[in-house]
Amino acid sequence: SAFTVDTFTHSFLYLKMSREQLVVQRAKKAFQTGKTKPLEYRIHQLKSLYRFVSERRKDIADAVKRDLNKSEHGTELFETLGLEGEINLAIERLAEWAAPRPVEKNLLTIADNVYVQPEPLGVVLIIGAWNYPWAVTLQPLVGAIAAGNAAIIKPSEVSPNSAKVMEELLPLYLDKDLYPVVTGGVSETQELLKQRFDHVFYTGSSAVGKLVMQAAAQHLTPVTLELGGKSPCYIDKNCDLAVACRRITWGKFVNCGQTCIAPDYILCESSIQNQVVEEIRKSIKEFYTDNPKTFEDYGRIINKRHFKRVMALMEGSTVVIGGESDESECYIAPTVLKDVTAESRVMQEEIFGPVLPIITVSGVDEAIQFINEREKPLVVYVFSPDNKLVRRVIAETSSGALLANDCLVHFCVSALPFGGVGNSGMGCYHGRHSFNQFSHLRSCLIKKLKLESINNMRYPPHTASKMTWA
Ligand code: NAD
Repeated sequence: SAFTVDTFTHSFLYLKMSREQLVVQRAKKAFQTGKTKPLEYRIHQLKSLYRFVSERRKDIADAVKRDLNKSEHGTELFETLGLEGEINLAIERLAEWAAPRPVEKNLLTIADNVYVQPEPLGVVLIIGAWNYPWAVTLQPLVGAIAAGNAAIIKPSEVSPNSAKVMEELLPLYLDKDLYPVVTGGVSETQELLKQRFDHVFYTGSSAVGKLVMQAAAQHLTPVTLELGGKSPCYIDKNCDLAVACRRITWGKFVNCGQTCIAPDYILCESSIQNQVVEEIRKSIKEFYTDNPKTFEDYGRIINKRHFKRVMALMEGSTVVIGGESDESECYIAPTVLKDVTAESRVMQEEIFGPVLPIITVSGVDEAIQFINEREKPLVVYVFSPDNKLVRRVIAETSSGALLANDCLVHFCVSALPFGGVGNSGMGCYHGRHSFNQFSHLRSCLIKKLKLESINNMRYPPHTASKMTWA
């Protein structure tokens, strides 16, 4: 009968499908049932995600310890707290975010219903990074679920312990068809990228970002690219240098420098360079003791490849703090380089490691020029008590975000869109912005079949008398 032939063809087709094709098919089917449309369903899944994070805190912390040598409290502070906050915010605000958004009316629409209706995009792909393997993979997922999508989650293979825990435990909490975890490396990611998605959300390097966008273009799939780059940090000589350098030391060396929004290099006048070095030295000692290698809160470089890359970046520059390393543990001491030139090796790519070069400039004018001669960074940092100077840097440079007198903390402000511009990425997320990023903002105009006389002007014949009426 037709039934058996059909079942046979189906099984045959499934047999021929790759794992990646299969999960995408399943997610699509599950999405098409309309299951994710009711807000109650999304809230239920968000609550399960919250439960996953709180019940599996220990599994998560153990995995991150093995991947990056992060301490348990470090993981709580930098991975799970923010994630829980984002989940709670989404649960609390979902009804408001998902509601029709009335827009301004004019004379022609005064009697109509005019609004924007957010709707789910469909099946989205989230490709995470390894440096904060939970935050940068599951925070986008919060937005994808809240907006009513199915999402394929691809954790980074570079942090294998976190990827494994995610693959094993997340399906115990979330719908397996709608939110499957797919693990694997480059070839699996490439196979995934061949599939047709309704959105791809990628976090990682600009180089791979281009490949992701290329693959997505085959299906006209829109992308969010959360990339990196060299985020500059200008220190004004009138700063409280002790406080400024303490905050910069924290922002740079946390997670062993492997933070997309870490200050990549310092720009300051030569008259304060030595003082900056000494203040950073003090803070390194305060945070990580005289021996960071044995201190539990100092991280490790993720793997040997990155270890070798970061070590090579120091070549040709003057080390004033740190410089020690141990390849067997992927350990690199908190390191500061002074009198670095724009041509030096360390200035040719994003450092993504615990190495902080200082470049001297004649003042804020030269700093602005230096920043503008390069790719648009993810963040511009400026430390100054002078509000006018800060406003000038805002007005005369461009970057994903600008943070004055602190490091990293803008990531935790859910009201601020988080993302890059130009080479540091496109699109943004966090809080309501995540919801919007994973929604189609559909224009709706609902008219009545009444008041036909006011439409006369648009119907032929287009006579002068009709125009004078207008
Ligand atoms: P990466 O781009 O090299 O790798 C990320 C993932 O891409 C890997 O899991 C890998 O499977 C996949 N991949 C690699 N080559 C591929 C290919 N040829 N085709 C398809 N997929 C491929 O990134 P990385 O080195 O792991 O991460 C570091 C970068 O990520 C830094 O630049 C950092 O600034 C950035 N980052 C940005 C953010 C942000 O929120 N903007 C957060 C974390 C990290």
